[in-house]
Amino acid sequence: MGLLRAYWFTGHVTASDGSVGTGSMGAGFVWLDRSKCGSERIGREEEGTSSGRAEIGAYAAILRRTPDHEDLVTATDSEVLCRVVGRWVGQGGKASLANTADADILEYILAKLAARIAAKSRTFLVKVKAHRGEPLNEGADDLAEAGRELEKEGENSRWQDRTTRVVYPYYDRTSRQWKKGTWTKTVRNAARRGAAESLMEERLQIGANKWRKGLFETRSRDTDGDQQMLNHNWRSDAPSKWDMIATGKWIQKAAWNRWVTESERDQPHKTPITSTWTADFLTREGEGRKTIGDWLRDKTVPWKARRRLLQTNAGVFPCEARLQRWGRHPDGICELCKRCREMGLKLLGGRPARGTTGHLQSSVCRLQAPAATGAHNTCFQRVQDDMSKAKSVCRDWEFVSKGTEISLGKFVSEYFTPLTLGLQTGVVSTEDTDEIWDAAKEEAMEKTKGRETRRARADSPMVDETEVEKSFWLSRPDGWVINRVTKKIILLEFKRTSDCGESYFQDMWRVAEQQHVPILAGLRALAEERGWEIEVVPMVAGQRSVREKEWLEALRLFGIGKEDGQRILGRLGRTLLDEHEKLFGSYWRLTFGPSSSMQQLLGKGISVRTSRPPQGG
Ligand SMILES: [Zn+2]
Repeated sequence: MGLLRAYWFTGHVTASDGSVGTGSMGAGFVWLDRSKCGSERIGREEEGTSSGRAEIGAYAAILRRTPDHEDLVTATDSEVLCRVVGRWVGQGGKASLANTADADILEYILAKLAARIAAKSRTFLVKVKAHRGEPLNEGADDLAEAGRELEKEGENSRWQDRTTRVVYPYYDRTSRQWKKGTWTKTVRNAARRGAAESLMEERLQIGANKWRKGLFETRSRDTDGDQQMLNHNWRSDAPSKWDMIATGKWIQKAAWNRWVTESERDQPHKTPITSTWTADFLTREGEGRKTIGDWLRDKTVPWKARRRLLQTNAGVFPCEARLQRWGRHPDGICELCKRCREMGLKLLGGRPARGTTGHLQSSVCRLQAPAATGAHNTCFQRVQDDMSKAKSVCRDWEFVSKGTEISLGKFVSEYFTPLTLGLQTGVVSTEDTDEIWDAAKEEAMEKTKGRETRRARADSPMVDETEVEKSFWLSRPDGWVINRVTKKIILLEFKRTSDCGESYFQDMWRVAEQQHVPILAGLRALAEERGWEIEVVPMVAGQRSVREKEWLEALRLFGIGKEDGQRILGRLGRTLLDEHEKLFGSYWRLTFGPSSSMQQLLGKGISVRTSRPPQGG
């Protein structure tokens, strides 16, 4: 005000301010010459309070007290007031009061301003910073607060006329209060949230009802063939359920529903815990659902990609298994796998698999395998890189496999032998390698036999020891981490797996742990006598989600704290979703688009038909 020489202005020098509190709005106004200072209460709080309405009301109060032909300057700290009034200055007919919340006051202000223009007087609105000691503004601020306390009746209470707008009560989470408002963004969000929460409660209620039924009967029927569930037998656990009832926790319905469904998730089950597998997935807590929400809201992600994630979340992505359930596909078997078989390519498991969303994202589907492996590597390298760079990571850990892959053979020659023997240079001693293989042989042969049995569906497959040894030395865990101080070596095994079923985490964790038993057996034979320890740390991520608690635990092994851990998981979650989308893009191209990947697989010079094979073929 001072800089603008407003204090020496020849007309009225004034300031207005608004104040908003719980269920009331007030306006304050001051004149530099102290002639007409005062407060007003601004009404219609039944339709919700807003600071903008209070500010606009305060300016109206000043205009009302100023004769139209006298010059006026007003200081305000309200951005809203300047914007709302500014929109009408020199307007060309586009501005309208139709959708303005405070049209009643604004209409008055505009009429006043028009009258002032007609009277050839000057009107200025000056934006000042709030609470910076500008004396006029401070004075108006105090009076505005006083305005909120005024009686609702009387001449100092204004703008009370209700509109025909519907008023919605809603719960405000920040202030933990029930509030009222018209159909604004705040109310819309509250409504959305409330609807989502009631849907969630409803699903959990279904789960709790199922749980109760389980007290008297056992479940065995698989109602949803779309998901590949492990072949667990349902066990009766009625006694432990009665124990849970004895806790009396059922008095609080919402908490109880949550508790029993959580306990069910940990049990093997063939039918969904809640209403559907999809509802199971979406009601599972602690799995970084926020990342999915952020991704779906992200405008830089193409809408087709966002739609695809919605489709997979809702379990309606039109893969073969789903099409079959809709009666639009003869057998639900993966068409890509069928194509491979037609071309005489070997299939994992010996025959085409069901075309589920889990299948088409895994390397089991041979045509999708390059993309699936790529997704796995991208996600793992992201995590490993973030782990090694985390502020809280213990610097003793050396992530030697960062950005690369190290086979067992290479690891033994470059790190294991020199480290455990305390050597400066890498020398491969054949003694070491022989001893390692001797210790690992049995486990390695067993593992290969088991795999061959499954693949060839034969009881006693032929397994060549030299071949097994060769692939043993070539085997590559995802990561190697070394701690020279505590003499520890950790093998990281990352799994990116279908997260439709509840038990995905434990199941895959076990697979990852078992996967490197031969390596552990081999290396431990030498390491233990040299004072070193070797361990596998499985890291299991869902295709769309991450289990926070378990991951944070794993990260803590490397000294990584909760805050860093959550940041790492957030980034992993985002990468998972990006890769999830890439895999579906690849599936789409392979199924309907030019089959360039197919040509790559077969080599150049071979033409491939791009249409789908006839149905049922
Ligand atoms: Zn397939």
